[in-house]
Amino acid sequence: MPQKSLEDFTLSELQAYVQSKAVERGFNLTDPSKKLVMLMEEVGELAKAIRGVVGLKFSSTTEKKEVADELADVQIVLLGLAQLLEINLANALKEKEAKNQERIWS
Ligand SMILES: [Mg+2]
Repeated sequence: MPQKSLEDFTLSELQAYVQSKAVERGFNLTDPSKKLVMLMEEVGELAKAIRGVVGLKFSSTTEKKEVADELADVQIVLLGLAQLLEINLANALKEKEAKNQERIWS
């Protein structure tokens, strides 16, 4: 059976992939507070990348690719934090969205 490519991964598979890379790269696997600090750092970088965005347009100094890269960093660290806390983020998202669908949004 051919190996599935990264672009076809489900969120659960991406979480497992991020975990395998964290192990391979010697990243923090035990301290959620350190991972949370990293997440905040990546959110800050995302904010900086978006700062040049006005409305839906990107300024000449902010490339959409830069924003996409920072969004990806946030997602990678978030998946790593979920893994460290032994939470399947795809399942958590589905369960929370089920709750959200019962909520009255007004
Ligand atoms: Mg970054």
